[in-house]
Amino acid sequence: MASTKSNEDRDQFVALVTATAEVTLPLGEFHPKSMLVTPEHFIERGRFPVIDYHNHLDSVEPEDALRVMDACGIEKIVNITMKTGDAALGMIDKFQRADPQRFATIGWMDWSEVAKPDFVERACQTLERLVERGAVGIKFWKDLGLTVRDGSGALLRIDDERLAPLFDQAAALNIPVMFHTSDPDAFFLPIDPHNERYEELVAHPDWGFYGSQYSKRELLDQRDRVILRHPRTTFVCAHVAENGEHLARVERLLETCPNLYVDISARASELGRQPYTARQFFLRFADRIVFGSDLLPEETMYRLYFRFLETADEYFEYPSHASRQGRWNIYGLHLPDEVLRRVYRENALRLLQGLQPERGRSAATAGSEPTPNR
Ligand SMILES: [Zn+2]
Repeated sequence: MASTKSNEDRDQFVALVTATAEVTLPLGEFHPKSMLVTPEHFIERGRFPVIDYHNHLDSVEPEDALRVMDACGIEKIVNITMKTGDAALGMIDKFQRADPQRFATIGWMDWSEVAKPDFVERACQTLERLVERGAVGIKFWKDLGLTVRDGSGALLRIDDERLAPLFDQAAALNIPVMFHTSDPDAFFLPIDPHNERYEELVAHPDWGFYGSQYSKRELLDQRDRVILRHPRTTFVCAHVAENGEHLARVERLLETCPNLYVDISARASELGRQPYTARQFFLRFADRIVFGSDLLPEETMYRLYFRFLETADEYFEYPSHASRQGRWNIYGLHLPDEVLRRVYRENALRLLQGLQPERGRSAATAGSEPTPNR
């Protein structure tokens, strides 16, 4: 009992629990290996056919992607081309020629002529041309709100009313608008020892937006205003609506905006470190969450996503780009089949085919009877 311990014993104990040392090992040389022993499951193919709704294949040969897709049970990849102008049309053609069933293309908003007075009118025409050629959506990237300037040199707001015809045009063309607005919270903080994504920001200093004209909150508010103002337009907010750190906020937005979907691309790290909250999020919004990877198609990468979504494995590496996103591991969400089916495939099918009523019926039929991969 503690009360009978001698002074000497107590001192030893106090010494034990208060000992510290100056650690001089450089962070970049610290690669601890977990000693945890818990069940592990390695899943070769997604439980159901998977649509990767968020990827970038411009530099990838279709046949190389198809090899990985066949090995992992990926039915289709949506290439968000980063090309504009004729090069974008060429990219649509390249993947349609390769296999129109296995690939689709989302266009990239071209701001190169933003300073011209008839910019929006011409951008609407460009959008129509992209869709005629086969594009299934248009992406507005984070440059809007952070770097794109109008003819007067002022930073263009996301909710600038002059852009409204573009969002109406997307509704008229039956395609969704994808927003990647702002970035993780840590990217808007100083790159210092308190930053949880320090190593990633050191590797990509241009991803740091500390001191931006609009704060992250203001940028998301501008985006949300656009979604609310255009209820007939369907929106997909990439990367868990850029609020993966704060899922209660994403839930409120999804509740307020029935015209909104979110993709989970590049956010297994964020979701997997809060497995209880994230699992509830998936169960509640199973009809509004879309699978996407945002990483070069590789077997290991897809299989980590499957392990994250399908198993109850604990404390393993998340799929990531080379510089990693932060020094933590993730936990599997062990999602039920009816959630996996929607997140892997059916919600994306609705976005790819279902925005037009007559095509929506066939999409719903196709979605109701998926063939399990295993
Ligand atoms: Zn992306």
